[in-house]
Amino acid sequence: MSKRDYYEVLEISKSASADEIKKAYRKMALKFHPDKNPGDKAAEEKFKEAAEAYEVLSDDNKKARYDQYGHAGLGGAGGSGGGFGGGMNMEDIFSQFGDIFGGHFGGGGFGGSAQRQQLRGTNLRVRIKLNLEEMVNGTQKTIKVKKMKLAPGATSKTCTTCNGSGVQVKVMNTMFGQMQTQTHCGTCQGIGKIADKIPAGANSQGLIKDDVEVTINIPAGAREGIQLNVRGKGNDAPFGGTPGDLLVVVEEETDSTIKREGDNLHQELYVSFAEAALGTQKEIPTVGGKVKIKVDAGTQSGKILRLTGKGLPSIDSYGKGDMFVHINVWTPQNLSAEQRDFFESQMNKGEMLAEPSGKEKTFFDKVRDLFN
Ligand SMILES: [Zn+2]
Repeated sequence: MSKRDYYEVLEISKSASADEIKKAYRKMALKFHPDKNPGDKAAEEKFKEAAEAYEVLSDDNKKARYDQYGHAGLGGAGGSGGGFGGGMNMEDIFSQFGDIFGGHFGGGGFGGSAQRQQLRGTNLRVRIKLNLEEMVNGTQKTIKVKKMKLAPGATSKTCTTCNGSGVQVKVMNTMFGQMQTQTHCGTCQGIGKIADKIPAGANSQGLIKDDVEVTINIPAGAREGIQLNVRGKGNDAPFGGTPGDLLVVVEEETDSTIKREGDNLHQELYVSFAEAALGTQKEIPTVGGKVKIKVDAGTQSGKILRLTGKGLPSIDSYGKGDMFVHINVWTPQNLSAEQRDFFESQMNKGEMLAEPSGKEKTFFDKVRDLFN
């Protein structure tokens, strides 16, 4: 893309005086100013182009180089590309040539003139502990939060400095004549109201800390660390503005019997010596409710049962993780005399011995199995 001639951009002749250059730039800048052409990309480009042309032509040294060598005379080491490379950004333009715009555009920033500040309360952040089932299936929780509320009896009145507009108008003398500039009112910080009666215990904005109950709907599929945004349940705004939001950060309860590892779940199951020997059925918790599982006769301690699809719904793919049930055989303690006699007789007869066949799965086999 070739650069346009700077004189052409400002629609002036090469013999234009410094004053004519300034006037020409001001005309272009006002015509293509973003406040007058909101969202118009083409106008923004023209606005930047004019600023760049003015930046060069208003500088005697740069102008001389440009007049002699054109855009190439201004380039850096490369030269061939010429000019300013990436061009100027809007921030630069306003900070460098702010005086050109004077107060015409509300201090030279975007957004035009100052307006009354919309009052909004600050956000509140709380943490909420959920167990896995609540996170997976969603739930409703009512929690107590301490938030800033408008104190009973607190009143406000219209700011007399700005008559409630929140805006102060100043007249400035610039080189282009008198210009108006609008700023936020210093007395009320642009709110338009100030406190009138402040009850004891309330702050300067008439707010006081109070315990309130908030009911929060937790959607299904919540995960540790996610933040839910409950609109309007944060701190009240002073003088009747919009309340802030309540930000709820989800934490996973760690004392649950079910432990999470990615999408997979793990839990320990203890069975008695007799149950392991004879086989049994056990009811265990899962995130979808309780399920019955079968413990085979002769189950060894350390066996891991895999319940396919009983883990968590996968967040980044289809399907679900699995539930792994780690079986622990509980060795009887504090035997009664009768039980002691029984075990002693078995032992003396050479019964109930540990008789590994050599085909038992080692700890490492089990770990490997988990990943297959
Ligand atoms: Zn005011």
